[in-house]
Amino acid sequence: MEQDNKIYDVCIVGAGFSGLVLAIKLARAGLLVCLTELNRVVGRRILSTGNGRCNYTNRRMGPEYYYSNSILDFMPDKQCELRDFLREIGVLERELDGYFYPITNQAKTVRDALENEIETLNIDVFLDNRVTDISKTDIFTVTTHRRKILSKKVCIASGGLSAATLGSSKIGYKMASKYHLKLTKLAPALVGLSGNDICLKELGGVRALGAVTYRNHTCEGEIQFNKDGVSGYPVMCISRFIGLDELDKKVASLSVDFVSFMNDQELENELKSRFARNNNLDITKSLVGLANEKVIQIVVSYSRIYPDTLVCKLDDEDIKNLVQNFKHFSINITGTKGFDSSQVTAGGVDLDGIDLTTMEAKTEKGLFFIGEVLDVDGICGGYNLTWAYTSADIAANAIINEV
Ligand SMILES: Cc1cc2nc3c(=O)[nH]c(=O)nc-3n(C[C@H](O)[C@H](O)[C@H](O)COP(=O)(O)OP(=O)(O)OC[C@H]3O[C@@H](n4cnc5c(N)ncnc54)[C@H](O)[C@@H]3O)c2cc1C
Repeated sequence: MEQDNKIYDVCIVGAGFSGLVLAIKLARAGLLVCLTELNRVVGRRILSTGNGRCNYTNRRMGPEYYYSNSILDFMPDKQCELRDFLREIGVLERELDGYFYPITNQAKTVRDALENEIETLNIDVFLDNRVTDISKTDIFTVTTHRRKILSKKVCIASGGLSAATLGSSKIGYKMASKYHLKLTKLAPALVGLSGNDICLKELGGVRALGAVTYRNHTCEGEIQFNKDGVSGYPVMCISRFIGLDELDKKVASLSVDFVSFMNDQELENELKSRFARNNNLDITKSLVGLANEKVIQIVVSYSRIYPDTLVCKLDDEDIKNLVQNFKHFSINITGTKGFDSSQVTAGGVDLDGIDLTTMEAKTEKGLFFIGEVLDVDGICGGYNLTWAYTSADIAANAIINEV
């Protein structure tokens, strides 16, 4: 096992987005910094973000886009600062309806720019070094499976449990427990759902706009139905609640509103006026334009109406059933597709144990936590990378101010 006598000011566990940002900010301020990373490259996860395009932030920002067991009022809006930071290292931006991407449309641009800056600043990076323990006497000793690193401060930026093939471990949670911090429940979030409801066999392949509700959480957007589950933006955004319920084996059903632009009464009126306009049309023709074609067929079938029924034959009960199935279509789901398919981890190191003005553990001076390892998860739209940046920036300012 290697050990040199260098004593770093800060050793950062994990060279993901938050760890790289922190390292750059500290090194620019003249601190001696190192990064330890279990992968053979830095920022591997960044390459997969935003379907390979890296949606790194969003013009709409605020605690309301995030979940945690703690109150997130402290969270500053750093999206402009993050964009400036990336621009400064060469990442030019492209904005699409408030969502920011690199102008190259390549996530690799973001990773490469961060790596170039790390090289320019001569930051020591220990790749293929899986951290196994962190201990403290006067200073910290960070043990990897290859070396021991001495450091005055340590920042854990080891991420969550999602997409393990991109690099993940439980080290952050283990060290939190070792240093007497609490963990909240961990569950996959921003993930597709599994189900074996018969309706999925029929809806498989359909992409339809609508609102998805799970218990009292609703989100709107394009829903993607597969033969064995559901995904798409609104499903991903509420999936964390299903992930958490799965832990207690109490997953409820999903309700889909295929006509979210009208309330129940408006839809009833719309149906009645359509049926009155031409009462010799068959039901499926009469509903054209109200929802996706396949959705119409399934809603009609689930309302126990034959597809060739003339609308003049429908009664109030049929109309009520149609409204019910268009607006409250119930799908039985079994759970999420799991951590490996998820983009982020819900839950983590409890914020109660962290000084949120510095990101330092209240229980251990000099030990910091940033990024996804903490109990903060954002919805789709650049919020998780923004949190990684925000927490890194808070820690950087605190560490720099202290020296
Ligand atoms: C497919 C996918 C798409 C995504 N798309 C987006 C998106 O478009 N926008 C967005 O905002 N967010 C997106 N996310 C989420 C985002 O990537 C993460 O929230 C963010 O990268 C978290 O940053 P982090 O630095 O906290 O953790 P990570 O980026 O996960 O970095 C942690 C690093 O620590 C290393 N590590 C772990 N354990 C150890 C150990 N024991 N020793 C040494 N190193 C260790 C890991 O290998 C990793 O490199 C996506 C995630 C995935 C999986």
